[in-house]
Amino acid sequence: MDAGGRNCYPLRAVGDVELDTPVRYVKGVGPSRAQQLTRLGIETVEDLLLHFPRRFDLRRQVQPIADLRGDEPSATVAGVVQATEYRPYGKRPLFSCMLEDDSGWVLAKWFHGGYLRGRIKEGLALAVSGKVSVYREAMQFVNPRFWVLWEGLPESGRAPEGERDLAADELLPVYPALGRIPSGLIAKVIKGLLPDVPRLFSRWFDRGYLAERDLLDRPSAIAAMHRPGQEDAWRRARRRLAYDEFLLMQLGIGLQRARSRSRPARALAVTGEIDRRIRARFPFALTAAQDRAVREIAADLARDRPMNRLLQGDVGSGKTVVALYAALAAVARGAQAAIMAPTEILARQHDRKVAGYLAGSRVRTALLVGSAPAGRREDVRRRLAEGEIDVVVGTHALISPDVRFARLGLVVTDEQHKFGVRQRVGFRAKGYAPHCLVMTATPIPRTLALTVFGDLDLSVIDEMPPGRGRTRTRCLPQGRFGEVVELVRERLAAGQQAYFVYPLVEASADTQLTAAREAVERLREAFPDVAVGLVHGQMPADEQQSVMRGFAAGEVRVLAASTVVEVGLDVPAANVMVINHAERFGLAQLHQLRGRIGRGAADAECILLTGSKNPLAAERLKALTETSDGFKIAEADLRLRGPGEFFGTRQHGLPELKVGDLIEDFDLLRLARRDAFAIVGDDPDLSRPEHLVLRAEMVKAYGGRVGLIAAG
Ligand code: ADP
Ligand code: MG
Repeated sequence: MDAGGRNCYPLRAVGDVELDTPVRYVKGVGPSRAQQLTRLGIETVEDLLLHFPRRFDLRRQVQPIADLRGDEPSATVAGVVQATEYRPYGKRPLFSCMLEDDSGWVLAKWFHGGYLRGRIKEGLALAVSGKVSVYREAMQFVNPRFWVLWEGLPESGRAPEGERDLAADELLPVYPALGRIPSGLIAKVIKGLLPDVPRLFSRWFDRGYLAERDLLDRPSAIAAMHRPGQEDAWRRARRRLAYDEFLLMQLGIGLQRARSRSRPARALAVTGEIDRRIRARFPFALTAAQDRAVREIAADLARDRPMNRLLQGDVGSGKTVVALYAALAAVARGAQAAIMAPTEILARQHDRKVAGYLAGSRVRTALLVGSAPAGRREDVRRRLAEGEIDVVVGTHALISPDVRFARLGLVVTDEQHKFGVRQRVGFRAKGYAPHCLVMTATPIPRTLALTVFGDLDLSVIDEMPPGRGRTRTRCLPQGRFGEVVELVRERLAAGQQAYFVYPLVEASADTQLTAAREAVERLREAFPDVAVGLVHGQMPADEQQSVMRGFAAGEVRVLAASTVVEVGLDVPAANVMVINHAERFGLAQLHQLRGRIGRGAADAECILLTGSKNPLAAERLKALTETSDGFKIAEADLRLRGPGEFFGTRQHGLPELKVGDLIEDFDLLRLARRDAFAIVGDDPDLSRPEHLVLRAEMVKAYGGRVGLIAAG
């Protein structure tokens, strides 16, 4: 666009718009409607043209299939394809399908319909329109016009609404709208702008690139989103625009990845000798999955670019051991390693484990947590700065500004409590960047691994160490508490311990306390012979810790808890867990909770009590009783709750997508990722002429965050 044009919109001919023209200058809008449109997030012509229909209505009257009489000159029905058949024989090859709605079924047939084989498939929602006849007592449409309905079936008999002058089109777009700006008005305004689309939008890629990926060109796709005409044009348009969204997102991730790897790191090669020495520290052989992770990490450490790796595996799968391997590899090459845990309890637990594995070795370790006496902390800080500590375990205290390392080579962050939320921590390291390993016990579905965690390499531990008991999971109605008490009594008599988990998350602090106290009273009555402890998030941290320590020591035998027990508590004798109102938790969270038991050799039992009569809630929980594979559960959870809800928090760092669907479009996401990484690999600051458009789009979408502006 020419710079001079920007200042003279009001003088230009109406309709001669650019993408950044404010909507009030668009024909049919004006200042007051423009004001309303901002409430839909629409300020410019570009916003308007990228405001896509929510669904389409068929302009024709759709009638129930059962109402067809068999002699209509023209009728329209909509149904789901139940079966298809193709008969290529004879002079006129025939494609037929059976269409069913709530009221009945009908056949649709197309002569020379071979081209429909890939398009009309079982399960597709389809509308057909044309003459109806009867053949061998069955009602049929022959060579009808048809439309693929992507948002499910329109209600039978619903008359199309909206502006009559849009008549030429069979499909009526229905836009997200507001009272004073109805969909019909938006449709009309956008329709007026469609002729400008090819001029306004750039193409991004050349024909060859698009043909290879079977993608529409961008302007056509944008136009078809609004006016798909017939059949599957809308699907193809959507695919192209979803690709574009994913591509920009993955370019951002690719650029970030390239940047985080641009600083030099110390190469810490793990020799065969070092590898043997480290493995000899563990009283067991690594599982095949641990072994794979260790090799991946060793390969990263050997490079002079920082490792950025996510290590994921269920609770108890042996991540800590792998992290310790990495730490010892760094130490063997003369570097320091820091292991950061989210809470003091976990930091102390890691510290004990590390000390256990390293007993009798020359590796110098230390613990740094906020609650330690000031003199002690000061001493650890001094020794870290002077290089007298090799492995330090700690909490956030490790990243406070007064902590300096002599030669930090590796940082391990354990985020298992964070439930998948990214937390980027800045360790103060001069010169060389440390290698980074992030541990998480939240199985992250593949699609999120490529988005939220897309800049990290991935190591997965998908196998449990040998010698574990099995965990059985059952669903029971809340009302059968008595039975549960019996069962827990038996386990207690056998020397085991039990968790009772309550969903105390949403209530106010006061109600929480009351509910928790009542729950504990009930448990104390049920188990009068043993100590029952209570721990929840509203308690002061030191009280929480003292109760959990009592439980870990076996003094407290029954622990009533809110979800704080998620936080890596490791008590092998605790082998039964009762989760109250399980329907209020996400599947992934329940799985995480369940990971607290089954840590010893005995078989464990998890009981999900549900108070809900909702059959869907029960259905959802069934996934947990059927599998203990965290990845399958995570995928199910993601499908049920959507990406935003999956993490149960807002700070998930998911990009906003208008068109793309992270779950449904997984293959497309992968394609876009491959393409984006290839582009960044070739042209790391997108400065080649053919990438200038992408660069401008990136800046528009992500602003300065991708670090492209300065280079421009
Ligand atoms: P995570 O950190 O993934 O929860 P840990 O590394 O703490 O798991 O390991 C859980 C338990 O399993 C620990 O008690 C550890 O000693 C044990 N363990 C880890 N790896 C193995 C292995 N390869 N063989 C036997 N036991 C193992
Ligand atoms: Mg652990």
